[in-house]
Amino acid sequence: MTDSDLDSLFLRIIAGEIPADVVHDGERVLAIRDINPQATTHVLVVPKTRYRNAAELAAAEPDLLAELVRVASDIAEREGIAESGYRLLFNTNADAGQTIFHVHLHLLGGEPLGGLTGGPLKG
Ligand code: 5GP
Repeated sequence: MTDSDLDSLFLRIIAGEIPADVVHDGERVLAIRDINPQATTHVLVVPKTRYRNAAELAAAEPDLLAELVRVASDIAEREGIAESGYRLLFNTNADAGQTIFHVHLHLLGGEPLGGLTGGPLKG
């Protein structure tokens, strides 16, 4: 898979061209289960408009950034992990391990998570 395939991957999933396990499909936000889960629950919450990272999204559409968090917390409730705990994570650029340059919020939980911040996603 080339870089540009990865860049457009979420747009193609949003367009229905590539299958995904969808857990939320709203007007502005799609949430799908990660294909390579790093925890019992691992969901990616993706705005349907593409921004490269969380900072770009925050600058352009702060309300949409807030919606990602709301959708993630609703999913955590539905999955029954809100009380036990979960982690919300944005990777930005290479050192953080960002591979898809279409901002997405990782929702991780369902078991005790290692590491202080990005433990389960460490490459
Ligand atoms: P990043 O490393 O950019 O923060 O996160 C990208 C995430 O997308 C990774 O956790 C990876 O497992 C996931 N991913 C990559 N390709 C696919 C795919 O085709 N479908 C789904 N559902 N997730 C994917």
